[in-house]
Amino acid sequence: MSPAQSAEQAVFGPVPSRRLGLSLGVDLLWPKTCTLDCLYCELGLTTRLTRERGRFRDAGQVLAQVEGRLAELASPPDFITLAGSGEPSLHLDLGLVLSRLRDLSPARLAVLTNATLVGDAQVRDELCLADLLVPSLDAVSPEVFRRLNRPVPGLKVDDMIEGLKALRRQFSGQMWLEILLVAGINDSPRELDRLMAAVRAIAPDKVQINTVVRPPAVAGIRPVEHGRLKEIAAGFPVPAEVIAPPRGQALGGRGALADQVVEMTRRRPCTRGDIAAMGGLNPQEAQRLLEDLLSQGRLRAEPYGEEVFYRGL
Ligand code: SF4
Repeated sequence: MSPAQSAEQAVFGPVPSRRLGLSLGVDLLWPKTCTLDCLYCELGLTTRLTRERGRFRDAGQVLAQVEGRLAELASPPDFITLAGSGEPSLHLDLGLVLSRLRDLSPARLAVLTNATLVGDAQVRDELCLADLLVPSLDAVSPEVFRRLNRPVPGLKVDDMIEGLKALRRQFSGQMWLEILLVAGINDSPRELDRLMAAVRAIAPDKVQINTVVRPPAVAGIRPVEHGRLKEIAAGFPVPAEVIAPPRGQALGGRGALADQVVEMTRRRPCTRGDIAAMGGLNPQEAQRLLEDLLSQGRLRAEPYGEEVFYRGL
């Protein structure tokens, strides 16, 4: 896929998500535009680091793409999820897009947000149009926040926490707070105590504990071991889980599968197992598809830990 085509592509999937079942992704931003530049980001370094809201993609074009993709599917996805190349709440048309998506499909609406803008009442009002919010909070101490999440100047983690508390009071849907732990950075007993106190004050419906499972933006950072993640999850004052691997669900339309794999892995590197699950393929079929795409120069393989991830080019 050429860079021009990629820049125009705002809809990806449906893809099997670790959290959401079958999820149709909607990307309001291109190139990567975010308030943070997290060490662990699977999208690579932040191209445009900003906290100024703007109209990064044309909302009408994005919605037309969603409508077209929904028409190709045999049944609606479980979720339509605003995520993608950065922080969705940076888009000034977030509320408009959520309202129109509500009219387009019976799928539930989710927003994955880094919560950096929830101190803004307008952003909170717009986020409240979703059914599910998955905000992130990885640190409470300003120095850990700066080191791990590398925010645009002027962002304060205290404002995020106050904003999350206000959002929780206002939002009647589900709120799952994601905490991504990186060994040696935000997994100290002191930082975990502070995170647990923040979680108690925010009162999300549940906490999802994650770690570095895909190639990170900055090489050399390490995941927290799985057993330790489970111990940490057990200590939270609200229900907490370590995010589980995706459950595979088949898609129709084999002809478009190669394009979908390239598009999906451009945003989120995937293992052969992820791709098999996405396409309803057995391991041999997934391997053949990957070999074809590798030989065509449309994917590259990136070993990480004990896995090999595939990234779309
Ligand atoms: S992980 Fe999310 S919040 Fe962090 S830089 Fe990447 S897109 Fe932005």
